[in-house]
Amino acid sequence: MKVPLLDLKPQYAQIKEQVIPEILEIIESQGFILGPKVEKLEKEMAEYIGCKHTLGCSSGTDALLLALMALDIGKGDEVITTPYTFFATAGSIARVGATAKFVDIEPDTYLMKVDQIEKAITAKTKAIMPVHLFGQCVDMEPLMKIAQKHNLKVIEDAAQAIGAKYNGKDAGVFGDIGCFSFFPSKNLGCFGDGGLVSTNNTALYERLKGLRVHGGQVQYHHQEVGLNARIDALQAAVISVKLPHLADWTEGRRKNASLYNELFKNNPEITTPAEKSGRFHIYNQYIIRAKNRDALKAHLMEKEIGCSVYYPLSLHQQKCFASLGYQKGDFPESEKAADSTIALPVFSELSEAQIKFVAQTINEFTSK
Ligand SMILES: *Cc1c(COP(=O)(O)O)cnc(C)c1O
Repeated sequence: MKVPLLDLKPQYAQIKEQVIPEILEIIESQGFILGPKVEKLEKEMAEYIGCKHTLGCSSGTDALLLALMALDIGKGDEVITTPYTFFATAGSIARVGATAKFVDIEPDTYLMKVDQIEKAITAKTKAIMPVHLFGQCVDMEPLMKIAQKHNLKVIEDAAQAIGAKYNGKDAGVFGDIGCFSFFPSKNLGCFGDGGLVSTNNTALYERLKGLRVHGGQVQYHHQEVGLNARIDALQAAVISVKLPHLADWTEGRRKNASLYNELFKNNPEITTPAEKSGRFHIYNQYIIRAKNRDALKAHLMEKEIGCSVYYPLSLHQQKCFASLGYQKGDFPESEKAADSTIALPVFSELSEAQIKFVAQTINEFTSK
């Protein structure tokens, strides 16, 4: 039995009949830039997330860049974040000329340790960038208290967390700006690159809107230097078609995750991911910790079971961030996670038989 880490084809089969006419309509109209499909998506997304405004943009990475720029974060500023995340989190901080200051992660959720944030605050700290990694929200209540106490901005990297909840509220509504990605492997993916920012602050929304098109509200008049960071109308239409299915697809992922949890329950060699109380995990990735991770990975590949390591090298150890001055050993939990975790297939359309096969293969391997 072959089990891919992610297969988008069965999802496409569910929406094909709806999405093709939408795409054709845009092609026939030849109106590819912004326009009604993008505005429609932005309204639907604001309703879905539960915030005042959203703005479609070209990628999750550009969502982070737009957020940093809209909050005037740049040279000389520090942004506190996690070293255990996708590169774009710290990459965007560096791109605006600011400095990433890392704090370590919790070993059970792989999320930033909120109680370490205050120690990392200096006179230069301007913002905190929590990452709702793998689909579970960071502990936002104490984080927001710290931000308010020290007058810091909060940018949520919710690229992996569309529809994830914390105390009943969606990822992306807690901070000043939430950043989402529609990269195909995210829970809500388009047919290429796409992203979105969310905010409850109307002034920030207007600023973001300008920054998305070269820093001007009126065409060919520029208050500041912005980006070209629009979402394509074609991609917006794809997301609008997919959005009504998202809750079902999330339920499918959650069901698959709980079946894995059950099947690994009696295996002391495997640590399953923790879902903290008050949080609704959307399992963009289902991550286990294994003692012999690299050997397990090789074995799974041999058995044609898709798996991947997110992420094999913490950001404080990346060559491009050497100038930040961190060393191996600075963030032990992040480094341990990089050495011991692996992602298993969890997408909604997997069959129970496939999940049982994956778990059985792992349980047999670890009992040897
Ligand atoms: C995917 C991702 C991004 C970037 O999104 P893109 O759309 O690929 O640019 C940023 N942060 C995290 C945590 C991500 O997983």
